[in-house]
Amino acid sequence: DTKDIKVLLLENVNQTGVDILKGQGYQVETIKSSLPEDELIEKIRDVHVIGIRSKTKLTERVLKEAKHLIVVGCFCIGTNQVDLQYAASQGVAVFNSPFSNSRSVAELVISEVIALARELTDRSMELHNGTWNKVSKGCWEIRGKTLGLVGYGHIGSQLSVLAEAMGMAVIYYDVMNLMALGTAKQVPTLDALLDQADFVTLHVPETADTKNMIGKEELAKMKKGAYLLNNARGSVVDIPALIEAMRSGHIAGAALDVYPDEPAGNGDYFNNDLNHFTQDLRGLKNLILTPHIGGSTEEAQSAIGVEVSSALVKYVNEGSTLGAVNMPEVQLRNLTLDEPNCVRVVYIHKNVPGVLRQVNAALHHHNIDKQSSDSRGDVAYLMADVSEVKESEIKDLFQSLEELGSRIRTRMLY
Ligand code: NAD
Repeated sequence: DTKDIKVLLLENVNQTGVDILKGQGYQVETIKSSLPEDELIEKIRDVHVIGIRSKTKLTERVLKEAKHLIVVGCFCIGTNQVDLQYAASQGVAVFNSPFSNSRSVAELVISEVIALARELTDRSMELHNGTWNKVSKGCWEIRGKTLGLVGYGHIGSQLSVLAEAMGMAVIYYDVMNLMALGTAKQVPTLDALLDQADFVTLHVPETADTKNMIGKEELAKMKKGAYLLNNARGSVVDIPALIEAMRSGHIAGAALDVYPDEPAGNGDYFNNDLNHFTQDLRGLKNLILTPHIGGSTEEAQSAIGVEVSSALVKYVNEGSTLGAVNMPEVQLRNLTLDEPNCVRVVYIHKNVPGVLRQVNAALHHHNIDKQSSDSRGDVAYLMADVSEVKESEIKDLFQSLEELGSRIRTRMLY
């Protein structure tokens, strides 16, 4: 029953998220901060759902005590704070919110494109320091210029529309063949993009293929006087190579929001020079440096609340793992639980041979309306809608699945 579901929300999760969970009738407790490990262990013992942000560490030690826990919601982008593999091995799904801030990033990039074209941050810094320095040489309108998007996903495609509205021509390079929005054009290679773009902006994920994707050679292939923007991940740009290209004047300006080895909290990261490049960056002209704020807006926070809470509700009520970061993604079309004598069986199990046969043997007296399963690493997830089950039979069905050697966790939704 939804009224029996206990939810613990830490770290001041956005009200939009709290409201959705309360709206389901769950028992929701909210705490403004994260908790020290021992207190967390005390609290987590009772709950079915926990919502956290980046400061709560869900280690193996903590998760071991969470006997009733079925799902974790990370109300943020990153999931490093959770031992994902251990959680999966206990049948605990983990969700996050990767795309709620796409628009915020796209808007920041637009502001940076104009700011770079006008050397805006240099002029502002000069005047803050007392110097009136009115220049037009090397300053441009963005109308008619070409924006080159590397990666045409959630952020890249939003940017495509915004940039065209301001009169820019848009080209993009992506490993996938993607439908262009507006009059944007996909180009076949990164080189083709570097060759044509006045502004190159990066919107690819961090993968082995994108590591140092923009290095010395790529920078040399960019037009003289072009600009580079990285709001993706710190690993995508070879920063020492960028410093060289800016010093030589080949690159007229750049914006960096992300860095290799970013710090966990606010502080004097750029004074410490752990990466041996921060001092060099700080001396460069027309270089916008921001502390990973691309997605940091009020709107993104409230969208995160909606996105994560909705995923939690779908998981708790319907078993859908769509968007889970540590489990195979499985969902079944239209929920038929309102129909009498219909039960949705969720069986999370070790990914070993022979399980489907055993599960279907356990279900064989009933009619399986639909069934789907998938695996990810050592863990597999099976969902089946079974009809013609009498209420008195549900317990037996549950028991027969619980007794299988492959069992990690069984849930019966009805
Ligand atoms: P997305 O998954 O929607 O899109 C990424 C696109 O890149 C996809 O279309 C994919 O096909 C393409 N791609 C993958 N590998 C590629 C390669 N080697 N070459 C060319 N294209 C490739 O992701 P998104 O939501 O648009 O995010 C893009 C990046 O922005 C991610 O790295 C994300 O972490 C980062 N991000 C940063 C901030 C910030 O605060 N600065 C906020 C949100 C996201």
